[in-house]
Amino acid sequence: MQALTVLGSTGSIGVSTLDVVARHPLRYSVFALTGHSRLKELVSQCQQFKPRYVVVTSTQSADWLKTRVPVETQVLSGSEGLAAVAGDDQVDVVMAAIVGAAGLEPTLAAVRAGKKVLLANKEALVMAGGLFMAAVRDSGATLLPIDSEHNAIFQCLPESFVCGATNANLNANRQVKAKNSALGIDILGVRKLLLSGSGGPFRTTPLDELSSVTPDQACAHPNWTMGRKISVDSATMMNKGLELIEACWLFDVNEAHVEIIIHPQSIVHSLVEYADGSVLAQLGNPDMRTPIAHGLAWPERIESGVAMLDLAAAGTLSFEPPDISRFPCLGLARAAVRDSGDAPAALNAANEIAVEAFLEGRIAFTRIADVVDVVMQGWSTSEPESLGAVQDADIRARALAREFAFGPKNQ
Ligand code: NDP
Ligand code: MG
Repeated sequence: MQALTVLGSTGSIGVSTLDVVARHPLRYSVFALTGHSRLKELVSQCQQFKPRYVVVTSTQSADWLKTRVPVETQVLSGSEGLAAVAGDDQVDVVMAAIVGAAGLEPTLAAVRAGKKVLLANKEALVMAGGLFMAAVRDSGATLLPIDSEHNAIFQCLPESFVCGATNANLNANRQVKAKNSALGIDILGVRKLLLSGSGGPFRTTPLDELSSVTPDQACAHPNWTMGRKISVDSATMMNKGLELIEACWLFDVNEAHVEIIIHPQSIVHSLVEYADGSVLAQLGNPDMRTPIAHGLAWPERIESGVAMLDLAAAGTLSFEPPDISRFPCLGLARAAVRDSGDAPAALNAANEIAVEAFLEGRIAFTRIADVVDVVMQGWSTSEPESLGAVQDADIRARALAREFAFGPKNQ
């Protein structure tokens, strides 16, 4: 029996995680659940799973919850509460599924405590990849990617590959053979990683109509049901840009070795190209319960509730290169990962502000990339030595993004 904390249990990934967990009551027990605004949903999750702890962001929410959750569930609040349930001695597995920068600290707390960490929150790696992966190496935490593309790549890599290269053999080999290698995992015969993306709801929309698309249109993803922030990121393809950065950290490669390929059907979740010309892909229906179940049970396999893939019914699987003029965020993300240091954190922060402004109806869809571009053009990159430095970069980039999006007096 493994004890599980779900950070962000009320979100899309959180709900899918609990759906898989509920199918395996003898394998997993829920130690803690956390939420932010969807308090009624959090109460019903507590009634169903009877966790030891539930955590919310504010003390007001905690007071509201106290009279409504089962007696065996203790209510905690704030960042201390999140860190406590992420790193508690009794926890075996932590699902990191809080959206955005807010997910960084509790996810790091789980890593530092050496947990098995199922990483859905991509912003943690985008913002603080260097510090995050160093913490994985130091603590010996088991890091398993849940983002479907990275989970697919992980499944297509040899079993000897370990995220964060805690694998002693791989490390030893690497020191001898690949000191100046452009691609750390070339030791495994890997030549390239291919990240697939659907191209989102506006892949074929005439370019001159993009400035007038609405938040609801942007959130209507053709294949996946997701939270609103990541849905908008999929429509701009900033999501793929963030995933490129995420892939560089998880798999220890530089951006030139990660190719982005548009695959509108979202059946092939990503691919790995090997030196001998073999290309391995992971396929499945677009349902996050597959990578979640893979991470939960790894290295075993369990049932996830996802319907089996019917290739004959799927018919055609098509691929095309991304159009950079339609998706300028892809170029911005590549530039940020090349700049390295705190540039990806600035990119992420500017994007979060721009997406929020778009979702609130305050800026047009096409301005999202403009806001990020202006912030990045004025950004002077430095190497963040601490989490505080990352958070400082995050705050500065947010302020710049607000100023550009709304004007200095109207933030
Ligand atoms: P949702 O918006 O659906 O859920 C986000 C979760 O985070 C909710 O539980 C929410 O609480 C909580 N939350 C929001 N703000 C805060 C905060 N300030 N402090 C603490 N908790 C907070 O997002 P998704 O589930 O779609 O995505 C979660 C993460 O997984 C993201 O980083 C995303 O990029 C990544 N991801 C998601 C995929 C998907 O298919 N959905 C695929 C791959 C990666 P509440 O709802 O109660 O407000
Ligand atoms: Mg993804």
